[in-house]
Amino acid sequence: MWKHPLFCSAWCMGLLSWLLLVALRTVLHEGSCFGPTDTHAPRLACLGHLMATCDVSVDFVAQWKSPARYKDCAYFHDTEVREKSWTNDWLIEQTATPAVSPSSVIVAEDPPSAITISRAFQPASHHKPYDVVLSSLDTVLFYVHSDILLRTSDNGFSSLLSAPCTSTAIDISEMSAVLDALLHVLYSEPCAEKPTFQTLVIAVDHMRYYGLEPRQHLTSSNPMYGYLLGFAPLFPLDLYALAARYDIFELAASTSSHLLRYSLPTISDEMADRIGAVYLNRLFHLLVRRSEALKSILLRSPYPHHPTPRCNFEAQKQMNRAWSLGVAQLVWEARPDIPANEIESAFSPLAIPITCELCRQSLADRMKEVVTLWASVDRTISP
Ligand SMILES: [Zn+2]
Repeated sequence: MWKHPLFCSAWCMGLLSWLLLVALRTVLHEGSCFGPTDTHAPRLACLGHLMATCDVSVDFVAQWKSPARYKDCAYFHDTEVREKSWTNDWLIEQTATPAVSPSSVIVAEDPPSAITISRAFQPASHHKPYDVVLSSLDTVLFYVHSDILLRTSDNGFSSLLSAPCTSTAIDISEMSAVLDALLHVLYSEPCAEKPTFQTLVIAVDHMRYYGLEPRQHLTSSNPMYGYLLGFAPLFPLDLYALAARYDIFELAASTSSHLLRYSLPTISDEMADRIGAVYLNRLFHLLVRRSEALKSILLRSPYPHHPTPRCNFEAQKQMNRAWSLGVAQLVWEARPDIPANEIESAFSPLAIPITCELCRQSLADRMKEVVTLWASVDRTISP
């Protein structure tokens, strides 16, 4: 049977098939001729390099969740790794964190925990390479530029940047939301999401700690100025106090127009102290000036017309008396922020009993004049 030609052929074909299957399996599982099949290879290579260069032990993965360990590693300051790490190979995901607004941070999900990076100040957020990494109290990393931070600081950013080329992240005693607002002021860049008023106040209040003068930065050209001013209708007195505290006159003046209905006697001692005597006096004079201006504008009665058979000078005195009565009532109740339409509404009943067309026309002309003059009265404090 073994010598039968048909049996020999079948046995040889079986052997060849088995050899072919073995070879194919070897190529697929061990060979590299088909190129890399592991999509996580770059990440594993990076982890390996990190362990080798940063002198971390094999339990590195278990300690990965420690941002301090991560941020101290100079390897992450290497450009090549930066490109790999913070683009596609590291599965960057954007998630919400309680410390800062969701759109302002990137959370790089990696086993077993997360690293939070500021979205606005991530490694590749600016054309110029960063040279300093800041870490907030809630461990959000900000990749920034020492020349921008030191440009206007008169104390080396609170002496924290004495060695700007350090490879270690510098701890900043601010929450990430405050540090984010502070950096946006220095970079004069708009925020992806408007900071809260409380965050802005803290950021401005802390500027001098970092050797920064708020008045120098919070000008109308800085986006943060616009954010602050946007809160004027909601927090007029607090914003006025903030501007007054740092002598930012333009911001205080713009805010003062929202304080026209404010009653000065209701200002607390603490708030008065925060505003300071100079700006409190300016606000007081603004309110007084407008009240006096309103009285002055309303003081003059409508011009009398030439006497006619139906309406002589004596008859026109009736209109003057009615005007005086209306003025007395309006001035007694008037606020420095009274709108022009309220003034018109207060005087419109005066015209009802007047039958003379010339008198009615004179009254209408006078009302137009009052409205025009009142609109031209300053609504903001003066230097
Ligand atoms: Zn008349």
